[in-house]
Amino acid sequence: MRSFHLVSLGCAKNLVDSELIIGNLTQEGWQFQEDPEAADLLMLNTCGFIQPAVEEAIEEILELAKIKENHPEQKLVVVGCLVQRYKDSLAAELTEVDLFVGTEGCHDMARRVESLYSAEGTDSVQIPERFIMDSTMPRVLTTPFYRAWFKLTEGCDNRCSYCMIPSIRGDLRSRPVDDLVLEAQRLEAGGLRELSLIAQDLTAYGDDLDANTHLSELLGRLLEETEIPWIRLLYLYPTGIDDRLLKLMAANSRIVPYLDIPFQHVSTRVLHAMNRRYSTEDLYALIRKIRSYIPEVALRTTFLVGFPGEDERDVDQIITFLEDMQLDHVGVFTYANEEGSVSEKYADQVPEEIKIARRDRVLEVQSRISSEIQQKYVGREELVLVEGLSKETDLLLEGRTQYQAPDVDGCVYINEGTASPGDIVKVRISESQVYDLVGGIV
Ligand code: SF4
Repeated sequence: MRSFHLVSLGCAKNLVDSELIIGNLTQEGWQFQEDPEAADLLMLNTCGFIQPAVEEAIEEILELAKIKENHPEQKLVVVGCLVQRYKDSLAAELTEVDLFVGTEGCHDMARRVESLYSAEGTDSVQIPERFIMDSTMPRVLTTPFYRAWFKLTEGCDNRCSYCMIPSIRGDLRSRPVDDLVLEAQRLEAGGLRELSLIAQDLTAYGDDLDANTHLSELLGRLLEETEIPWIRLLYLYPTGIDDRLLKLMAANSRIVPYLDIPFQHVSTRVLHAMNRRYSTEDLYALIRKIRSYIPEVALRTTFLVGFPGEDERDVDQIITFLEDMQLDHVGVFTYANEEGSVSEKYADQVPEEIKIARRDRVLEVQSRISSEIQQKYVGREELVLVEGLSKETDLLLEGRTQYQAPDVDGCVYINEGTASPGDIVKVRISESQVYDLVGGIV
């Protein structure tokens, strides 16, 4: 049996693609190999939407190429966003790679790889037609059995001026509701406790399908036709959050009181230049509305600082907003001037050291706000999804409340009681840190 080793870079959406690649290769008789030195095939699923991700991908390709040097019979295959973005130049620059495949090849990767071993040979760069995954495609979870990323759409119809995603991933394609329900049921049968809904823009779900297909309709079906205890919504576009969705969340505790809404900025002027369709006032109104429906909601957002033309007053606006609105979790990134993006040509580019200083300024304020917010949990009993032994020490268990999303937020260290991974238990919180909580099982 031939074996493959796969490294997956980038976001959760890319990880789902990797899970399809593993599913397809495994179904076609390949075996996953932990040790790259011992694998017949080395595969890298890349991210490439900003320069740091491109650099990370190239470094990883060179690492794998070094391994291949000692094992000349090995094949090296690179797939994903980097290939889609740089399809015309990669093959000439990275001659160590045997095959490049774009983002749309994950469901039939075995067939593509097979051609490397055939006498006729193959095109070394393959950019397959656009596709959208469905529940019939074999998928091997790389996350623990009790949680999974659930990809509703591919591509994006928004045109934020800094973003390369639409040109890499194409226009919006949504999966049909029936197909998503089927996949959720299958995941539930495997013991799933937490389903995290993801997309480039979750609120755009269904815009390309018939007029009755929206996120709320899908959620209604998931609530009715599964008993998955935690359903989590990630990556919502601010203007797509409507009363129908908030009412549904308020009435159904199985949709956890947590929303990840990337704002990118607060200043109307900068938002306009970013081609995002809302203003400072809209953001204040949105948060007030969300809290009027779900007072206990935890909110996560991300900001992009250092956009061309941004000045210190715009950053002050972010800081005032954070002080006023007390968001639970905030990520801050510096703007990267991406080749081929609309904003690449904008005047008044901000020097790198100023971008970094602005990011640090916002993060410093938020770290105080986050640690103050965390204190409200002390003394409370919260449901916690147990993830297993703590990564810090075998003496503690680790888990997450509904207010903490996997991978990006803090965790709960459990110092009393026993439970198994995937259990949802009640924990009395005794201590809070900037991002993490500590408590014992009740
Ligand atoms: S919504 Fe997100 S993925 Fe779509 S264009 Fe804007 S930043 Fe890019």
